[in-house]
Amino acid sequence: MFVQRAMRQATKAQTILGASPSNTPALAPLDASKLEIKESKNKKALQENSQLVFGKTFTDNMLTVEWEAGKGWGTPQIKEYGKLQLDPSAVVFHYAFECFEGMKAYKDKDGKTRLFRPDMNMKRFNRSAQRIALPSFEDEELTKLISEFLKVDDRWIPKGRGYSLYLRPTMIGTQESLGVGASNKAMIFVIASPVGPYFPSGFAAVNLLATSEKVRAWPGGTGDAKVGGNYAPCIKPQLDANKEGYQQNLWLFGPDHQVTEVGTMNCFVFWKNEKGERELVTPELDGSILPGVTRDSILSLTRSWGEFKVSERKFTMKDLVKADKEGRIIEMFGAGTACIVCPIKKIHYDGHDIHVPLDPSDKTSQAGKLTKRINDSIMDIQYGDVEGPKGWSVVV
Ligand SMILES: *Cc1c(COP(=O)(O)O)cnc(C)c1O
Repeated sequence: MFVQRAMRQATKAQTILGASPSNTPALAPLDASKLEIKESKNKKALQENSQLVFGKTFTDNMLTVEWEAGKGWGTPQIKEYGKLQLDPSAVVFHYAFECFEGMKAYKDKDGKTRLFRPDMNMKRFNRSAQRIALPSFEDEELTKLISEFLKVDDRWIPKGRGYSLYLRPTMIGTQESLGVGASNKAMIFVIASPVGPYFPSGFAAVNLLATSEKVRAWPGGTGDAKVGGNYAPCIKPQLDANKEGYQQNLWLFGPDHQVTEVGTMNCFVFWKNEKGERELVTPELDGSILPGVTRDSILSLTRSWGEFKVSERKFTMKDLVKADKEGRIIEMFGAGTACIVCPIKKIHYDGHDIHVPLDPSDKTSQAGKLTKRINDSIMDIQYGDVEGPKGWSVVV
């Protein structure tokens, strides 16, 4: 009953969202020129770079903009960072109408602020929103709004290589009723947190527990969308892995134990494949892999080098175990905005350990040569020290 009624309501909501008769005004697009700035008068004390903890401290202000079915996007605002007031019936609390992005703003050597491939984050944010029937928005307008937000909170962008301002654009469904249907109200907010290097004292390679009992994502699910609902269910398996001394789960899928992702990072293996070719491989985007901006950047860069084969394809634990036995694994790493790359040194699978080499020429090293080179190449572009491909490093 409850679901049927909700579905009728959803159909009604879709009619409102869909093509409107010519006598009703068009839905308001997201429009950065309407921005209102009511900056916080309360200037919080900045933290020393050495004291920064990921996602703990937030800047003085935040960016918000609300949406309503039948009306569209309202007035974007930059205002004092603070608590949101939401009705307890808001659908975000009940049915996980939430999606988000993770991106960073960097200070270059001339003091200018740069974003790394923001167009990719905005496109993915729109795709995630659409997957959970939240409204779409004009992606270039949100990039403009974020750029204005960065100007207002400029003093919060830490300087120095490895330091950045982490941005968390978020969209939530705020409809005040429990009907299971498309939310008739939504809100985008963007908050920002100064962060330091993921590895403050150099790389630290991680141990993984290959996990197949619990599954992160599956075909037709939401694994390729950055929706909040994907994350909470992965914490219990992570705690279980931590208890046994592993930092992250290596998420497997299917009876053949396909390798999918590492924690909340994309997974890369550099090996000599069965044909004896040097190959960098990452799982293909089959709908259950999150299309990482870092993943895409690594694929583009390494392809442009033309030094080895670069592949997006499925591979299984059986392939990895065989490669290990034959001594063909060269390096392995996770990839994501928070760390760029995270070297992997050990995988526990089916009662055995796979020892992944780091840098054989340097016994103290915690990362392989290719892993390090990828990290440095991307960082050089992010901080504007090296001119990357067109549109990768955007001065705001
Ligand atoms: C965000 C995320 C990534 C990495 O994406 P980037 O755009 O490179 O930061 C990979 N996997 C999952 C599950 C993620 O949530």
